[in-house]
Amino acid sequence: MDKKFDLQNTPYRMFIDGEWIEPASGSTFPVINPNNNEKIAEIYQAGNEEVEKAVKSARRAFENGPWKKMTGKDRGLLLEKTADLLEKRLEELAYIEALDTGKVLAQAIFFDVPQGIDGLRYFAGKARDIKGEVVELGVPGFWNYRLWQPVGVVLEILPWNGPLMMGLQKVANILAAGNTVIIKPPTDASLSLIECCKAFEEAGFPPGVVNLVTGPGGTVGEALAKHPGVDMVSITGSTSTGARIMEIASPTIKKLALELGGKNPNIVFEDADLEEAVEWAKMAAFNNQGEICVSGSRLLLSQKIHDEFLSLLEEKVRALKIGFSTEMESEIGPLISKGQMEKVIGYIENGKKEGARLVCGGEQPTEEKLKRGNFVLPTIFDEVLPEMKIAREEIFGPVLSVITFRDEQEAIEIANSVDYGLAGAVFTRDIGRAHRVVKELRAGQIYINTYYSKGLVESPGVGWKKSGAGSFGITKYMVPKTVFVSEK
Ligand code: NAD
Repeated sequence: MDKKFDLQNTPYRMFIDGEWIEPASGSTFPVINPNNNEKIAEIYQAGNEEVEKAVKSARRAFENGPWKKMTGKDRGLLLEKTADLLEKRLEELAYIEALDTGKVLAQAIFFDVPQGIDGLRYFAGKARDIKGEVVELGVPGFWNYRLWQPVGVVLEILPWNGPLMMGLQKVANILAAGNTVIIKPPTDASLSLIECCKAFEEAGFPPGVVNLVTGPGGTVGEALAKHPGVDMVSITGSTSTGARIMEIASPTIKKLALELGGKNPNIVFEDADLEEAVEWAKMAAFNNQGEICVSGSRLLLSQKIHDEFLSLLEEKVRALKIGFSTEMESEIGPLISKGQMEKVIGYIENGKKEGARLVCGGEQPTEEKLKRGNFVLPTIFDEVLPEMKIAREEIFGPVLSVITFRDEQEAIEIANSVDYGLAGAVFTRDIGRAHRVVKELRAGQIYINTYYSKGLVESPGVGWKKSGAGSFGITKYMVPKTVFVSEK
């Protein structure tokens, strides 16, 4: 494998109170290369002592010290400086992300890392744009104003499918608002966020403002999420983990932001620009090997174009280049882990058993070079019924379920028939129909005549139903305070 950057710091330390520390226990966990399942590094694993240390450090930095006195402009300048530092390492960071997550290098270079850095720059500006309001009261001699203030110590828990991009955008939002943060990176892909903490350190954030604690969700994540010293838990992860977080955060009534799973409908009507729609359907389902929360994993096709559309799509999908994630020409990389690969293969077997028609893929590639990695061929199932497991559950892999509909009403009913409500798309040239359908879709992020878009930092989606809860923008990690003033 083309190895451009060495992982020299193994075992990687965690970042607490402005220092790079080893845990008291000395325990580590391995970093596995998803391309061949070889161990490539180790990371120290936190115990209770490090959890306590991180919470104490974040609390101290929030309540006392220089951070509290900094203005939005000061915070913005630090975020800008972090962005500059990361930009200088863009290629290296992209390589590390590709190696650790299985995301293909081209996507890491041209999308994930730039979008993460863009998040820092966007929120650098937003830090100077925190606005309250004056409220007129129906009471003579009194008036009222409303302030937005930071919530305090925020725990940011991240998933493995894009830790750098999501991590930077969220941490920037948290810091711009004046909070301190404890980052809990995904156990299967912690490296890029560890590297990002070097930039937060070098940029000059005061000790304790940014902390990073590594280890498994079930132990380290839970201990942090339960901790009374944490004011807010923000998680991007699966719906079951989100539910668990709600449960363990409830005794201390923590503020929550939940960005969870999806099973998103991509609806194509008969009057769509077919060539465009086919290209987007391919991207929607197979970008990042389908390991994207908003992926268009259910393709709802008008029966009038079904045959033509599917044959065009099959041709494009069969041509996708599968290869090592660290190689620039690869379009489909490995899944994050053996466990995830087995889960995806289990869904494929289930689809066959339930009677869906396998159009392509459905197995691991036979190429010798790829045999040791977690690769699954891009898979299309046709004749999928809405009640089948592959039509209802989030697979989080390269598996597309094609469902046919007769008319607009049936398309909407099928689209809304799952527990999730994260995203969806409508392809049609009929502008009235596009907006009618958008209004009926029970999901928080919709595309018309496209799938995926940059600009999520300016206008992120919020999940409906079992896909999440929370808000967005600079006040996402803030709390309102209403102030009554007597004129006497
Ligand atoms: P996951 O739920 O297994 O893990 C997410 C994070 O939570 C990891 O850091 C993990 O260590 C931690 N965690 C797990 N159990 C925990 C617990 N009990 N307490 C505290 N922390 C815990 O998810 P994953 O497999 O890493 O990521 C894939 C999932 O993330 C998919 O369901 C995907 O849809 C979702 N996702 C959602 C969005 C969104 O914006 N809605 C974006 C990306 C991914």
